[in-house]
Amino acid sequence: MDSTHTPAANNTATTNAAIRSWHAHVYYDGPAQRTAAALLRAQVAGRFVVQLGRWRDALVGPHNRSMYMLAFEPAVFAGIVPFLALNRQGLSVLVHPNTGAPRDDHLRHALWLGEALPVKGEVLPLVSTPEADEQLVINSWPDRPGV
Ligand code: ZN
Repeated sequence: MDSTHTPAANNTATTNAAIRSWHAHVYYDGPAQRTAAALLRAQVAGRFVVQLGRWRDALVGPHNRSMYMLAFEPAVFAGIVPFLALNRQGLSVLVHPNTGAPRDDHLRHALWLGEALPVKGEVLPLVSTPEADEQLVINSWPDRPGV
């Protein structure tokens, strides 16, 4: 094993405190999946404190399929990720932390619900800064769903 792939010693592990927020990218392909994605979006909006991202029918950033983003605080993870697992209706969902390392966050730190899709990691910077990060802008609450 070469040294670049040696697991870090326990005392040098990255802690969860590195995670500023999470994204869940909900992918869809074709009208039927877009309808499923709309239902899931409404279900999420009625239950969780999240930022509902814009519909991205045209490909954007590292994504190879139409999608929208859900962004949320780390404290929301334990509720929303199981909900997405149970209600994704066959859609692929990329769940990734935001730690200031966009390429690793999308490629190495990512969780997939359903089929894992290709991600264009090469368009993402290795390092970001809090200033350069997209700020989390909550725009949906269970009592005021922002759909
Ligand atoms: Zn993202």
